[in-house]
Amino acid sequence: MIVIKTQNELQAYLKHHDKIGFVPTMGALHQGHIGLIQRSMAENDITGCSIFVNPTQFNKQADFDKYPVTLEKDLELLLEVKCDFLFLPSVKEMYPEGISSTPTYDLGYLDTVLEGEHRPGHFNGVCNIVHKLLGAVMPNNLYMGEKDFQQCMVVKRLLEITSLPVNLIICPTLRADDGLAMSSRNMRLSDHARRKANTIYHCLQYIKENQGHASFVSLRNDCLEKLASNEFQTEYLILACADSLQILGDFEAGKKMVVLIASVLEGVRLIDNMRL
Ligand code: AMP
Repeated sequence: MIVIKTQNELQAYLKHHDKIGFVPTMGALHQGHIGLIQRSMAENDITGCSIFVNPTQFNKQADFDKYPVTLEKDLELLLEVKCDFLFLPSVKEMYPEGISSTPTYDLGYLDTVLEGEHRPGHFNGVCNIVHKLLGAVMPNNLYMGEKDFQQCMVVKRLLEITSLPVNLIICPTLRADDGLAMSSRNMRLSDHARRKANTIYHCLQYIKENQGHASFVSLRNDCLEKLASNEFQTEYLILACADSLQILGDFEAGKKMVVLIASVLEGVRLIDNMRL
């Protein structure tokens, strides 16, 4: 695997390659990331991953400061999976003009609900960095995880706005054996909290399994109680249309639906979702 730190070196290296697959990450890699890389390796001539903890997508400085960095272990995992290249730029390389004067993207409704509502500026930061990374790598195929359901929709919108000729491939969420969605943030949980963390998954399953038997409101109330009794502070637990993310009051037959949740355990903000 070749490690590349500047966009110039990256472009020089990539001009000799044809079908490029790309997996952008913020590091602290886990099997969820590795799954995306393996899928890309199976479908492209060359696969690259980027590791960059993007400062413009953190609406809280403390969250940025606490974001886990495990570069040595990440390199081991990438070597093991035989990823072709790692793009590992500095903040200066990606934001030579600084991080305060970045462009804004018209994300419309998507930026007003759920993660958009609870993390102002987050998706604009995501668009900034994904746009820059795509400009640098110019991949044919971009691999992202459905774990970040709304982010996938935002990136789809970014590709429409920018007309970049990139194919977005959304991959299923990889979970730990107890159901907890894999996430870099999980490593910040204490053993005590980690044992409770899959309550989120159980709630999503409960809503999915009972959708024909009770209203969403009553199932949601059961889940909010269960989460609270397990020391979670829930920011949202929402039923939405899976195509538009329009929020739904109750289950609608024949509609593609998804339940999305953000909940905080021991100061660690966890998100997850499940299609119904
Ligand atoms: P992150 O490093 O958290 O920004 O994630 C980088 C990419 O990996 C994003 O496209 C995420 O959606 C994806 N990802 C993160 N966790 C998982 C998971 N458990 N399963 C599948 N994809 C994931």
